[in-house]
Order: sequence, then structure tokens, then C-alpha cells
Amino acid sequence: MTTLIFDRISIPLQQALASALRRLAQLAHTSSWDQWASQRLTPTQRKILELLASRRESLTLSAVAQELGVTPATASDSLTALETKGLVKKRRSHVDGRALAIMLTTEGRRCVAALAALPDPLQAAFSVLTPSEQESFYRSAIKMIRGLQESGTLPLSRMCVRCRYFEPFRYPDSATPHHCHLVGAPFADRHLRIDCPDHEFNDRDAQEALWVRFCAGPPAPPPS
Ligand code: SF4
Repeated sequence: MTTLIFDRISIPLQQALASALRRLAQLAHTSSWDQWASQRLTPTQRKILELLASRRESLTLSAVAQELGVTPATASDSLTALETKGLVKKRRSHVDGRALAIMLTTEGRRCVAALAALPDPLQAAFSVLTPSEQESFYRSAIKMIRGLQESGTLPLSRMCVRCRYFEPFRYPDSATPHHCHLVGAPFADRHLRIDCPDHEFNDRDAQEALWVRFCAGPPAPPPS
């Protein structure tokens, strides 16, 4: 078999993909950094505010550290700074009297909403892709995030593909093939959650089985 000239003179595809993503990440980092820096917030402080805003209930310090993949000391420093700015408050936890429950203040919620409403150049960059290209990209991103979580590079997150309520490809011929047993409704790849407030972790074996079914795609129709 002849080797294509461009196979010899090109970098490997994985390297090219990493390079392309680094360019996009540069845009994301610069733009969001500018927006949040205008509020004198560090990236870790920003992530804490977004995390608290995504949850219905308060979180303990150790839960914040675990979700962000940072040390308790780093989380504690950032929380102290956010408390000084009046964006979060701490209360004694109802569940564990020795722990502190952390939640957003009204000002903290206002701050997250205002910053989320700012134009996002990275979101705008996706507008050149068709809806089906965007959905396929999103599915690939979820696969990559899960892979990095499995290797311990990223902290686990409350994704559909780890959730006890998720049933992939329950409706194989439908445009919304998956089912959420909590909501009681079908949904598509574009609706998959990466950090769902209603999520409940499956045990490890069930997560693995779920992942295999999700990756396998819709089951083949029975022979006629
Ligand atoms: S509860 Fe949330 S994470 Fe679980 S399947 Fe439903 S939408 Fe997905």
C-alpha cells in the first residue's frame, strides 16, 4: 500500500487536534479571564461560584474541594476571599453539625447571573458548525471528559453517563433516543448533562455497563 505524501509530512491527528483545541482554549481563557478579572475574581473563585449556582443545596468545604479537584486549603482560601467580597456565606451544616455549609448570597447569585450573560466568544465560535456537527462535538467532548475522569486527571462530575436515572438508547429509532427516569422524559445527545443538580451516582459496575451501552449506540433492529 502506498503511503500518502501528506501522511508523511503531517503531524499525527491527535497532535493536530490538541493544537487546535489549545487555540480555542486560549480564546476561552483570555475572554473569560478578562470578564471575571473585572470583578476581581480568580479562576478558582469563579469555578466555586459557578459550582454553588449549579446546585440546589449548599455544599461543604470538602465537597467544594473534591468537585473542583483542588486541595481543601486552596478551596478554603478562595472561599474566605469570596466571603470577604460578600458573594458566599457559611452556616453550620444541618446534616453534619461539625461541618460548614457554603452557599451563595443574593449578591453572589447576581454576580454569577451578570457574568454568565456577558458575550462568550467561545460559544460564538461554535455557530459556524451545523446543529448536527455541534451535537457530535458535544458527544465527543463528553467521551473525552469521562476518559480524563477515569484516569484521575479530572474530578468526577455528575454526568448523565454516570447516573442511575440514565437509560441510553431506550428509543433507538428516535431523534431523542435516551431516557431520564427522574424526569420521565426522552432526550437527545445535545441534552446530556455534565453537571446535573438531580444526578445520583450509579455504583461503579453499573456505571461501566451504562458506558458500554452508550458507546455501542442504538441496538441493531431484530432480523425481519
Ligand atoms: S437526573 Fe440528571 S444526570 Fe440523571 S439522567 Fe436525568 S438529566 Fe441526566
